[in-house]
Amino acid sequence: MYYTSTRDKSIRISSAEAITRGISAEGGLFVPTEIPQITLDDIKRIGTLPYTGRAKEILKLYLTDFTEDELNYCVEGAYKKTSFSSEKIAPLYKISDKESILELWRGPTCAFKDMALQLLPYLLSVSASKTLKDTKIVILVATSGDTGKAALEGFKDVENTQILVFYPVDGVSPMQKLQMTTQEGNNVSVCAIKGNFDDAQSGVKSIFTNSEIKKKFAENHLAFSSANSINWGRLVPQIVYYVSAYCDMVENGSLNLGEEMNVVVPTGNFGNILAAYYAKRMGVPIGKLICASNSNNVLTDFLKTGTYDKNRNFYCTASPSMDILISSNLERLLFHLSGENDAEVREYMKSLADSGKYTVEQKLFEKIKELFRAGYCDDALTKATIKENFDKYHYLCDTHTAVAVRVYEDYVGESGDNTPTVIASTANPYKFSASVLSALTSNIKSTDEFSMVDELHALTGAPVPPQLATLKDKKVRFSDVTTKDDMANVVFKMLNI
Ligand SMILES: *Cc1c(COP(=O)(O)O)cnc(C)c1O
Repeated sequence: MYYTSTRDKSIRISSAEAITRGISAEGGLFVPTEIPQITLDDIKRIGTLPYTGRAKEILKLYLTDFTEDELNYCVEGAYKKTSFSSEKIAPLYKISDKESILELWRGPTCAFKDMALQLLPYLLSVSASKTLKDTKIVILVATSGDTGKAALEGFKDVENTQILVFYPVDGVSPMQKLQMTTQEGNNVSVCAIKGNFDDAQSGVKSIFTNSEIKKKFAENHLAFSSANSINWGRLVPQIVYYVSAYCDMVENGSLNLGEEMNVVVPTGNFGNILAAYYAKRMGVPIGKLICASNSNNVLTDFLKTGTYDKNRNFYCTASPSMDILISSNLERLLFHLSGENDAEVREYMKSLADSGKYTVEQKLFEKIKELFRAGYCDDALTKATIKENFDKYHYLCDTHTAVAVRVYEDYVGESGDNTPTVIASTANPYKFSASVLSALTSNIKSTDEFSMVDELHALTGAPVPPQLATLKDKKVRFSDVTTKDDMANVVFKMLNI
């Protein structure tokens, strides 16, 4: 199995290369040159395995340059029973005859990023050992909140890696800040930046591209890498849970083997829903792929009209992890559906960079319309859905998941499509306690995030994840604040170089 770039089809590299490089030099994203196939018999057999077994079966089809021992080491390290709150890792919760919720937030940071970021560090360290001998991987992350924590938890104590997270000093919530500053592990550091997220991000980028720093790194057997969401090593773990969800839908009696299920995904960067597309292409009986957005509905418009146009208002919503106007992973879909036409993809991406928009060819658009459905909902409807869902099923969902539930209900209303459906749930409700609480009551007594957690628990009885409940008593390990210009020195200090 080889990987190529969405913007240069002549490239042919191994999965280890694709994962270590992260992004292709000309700006394209790495994609597999063929999609491996599985049969219903394979699905039946995979369904008898625990999640780690399912993961190995799928990953070995994509990461053909990894040995069985290497895959075992990666998967068993990532999906430990001690770091997930469900033995099933990504359990299904059947809320009605036709609807099951796929809980992707059972990991250490209570958000779906864990599904990929628990595995990526292992994939990266094994990949690096194949492609860069005797080199330690240094991960730099600029975060606006959730990704930083998920990356810290993932890389913590993984051999041959070191991670440093920068966050804007006044740009994250008190809960997010404590999640990061109390991080445990021997290879982790966290530092605040005086400035906003863009300052942190551009600071990290200028370190990545500084040739002096690169030289200093090489001399010390160090190499930079990124935990960015366009890395193939973050996408491939996500394919696994769609295969696993199908197995569980058969097991819980929602489907007979071979019957189709629809999938609904609350979408931002288009990574999660793209993973469902790959699962469908592999042979998993998936019907419609339903893309749910919040008020930043650039994808809804694109999937309905064929025109992607980011020239529009940007809204800060109650589902902040979906507040995105450029969905990077869409580029991979365009490559596959255009018949792997790299020239066509280059044109779209150039147009996006130049004018903020592009319109896809009719033939490509027809394929998109066949596969995808799309919808969006605003904050008021999101909150109303949280309340309705809780009243009706006594199931508490977070704001991102509620967007998906709402879009699904609208879809069923319009289409009458009664296909059994899996709705991806991307965060634990306590991660967004203020919004979730305000969805249920207008009479909030708490004034800070931590007492809101208690108040939400008193109101709903939904279990509070221990890692959030105990956060306020944990020891703060990292309290440094630096300026953008001094970020490189913070990196040197951490590495003792
Ligand atoms: C990242 C994230 C999303 C969006 O996922 P994409 O793969 O970027 O589409 C949705 N919900 C939550 C809670 C997230 O953290």
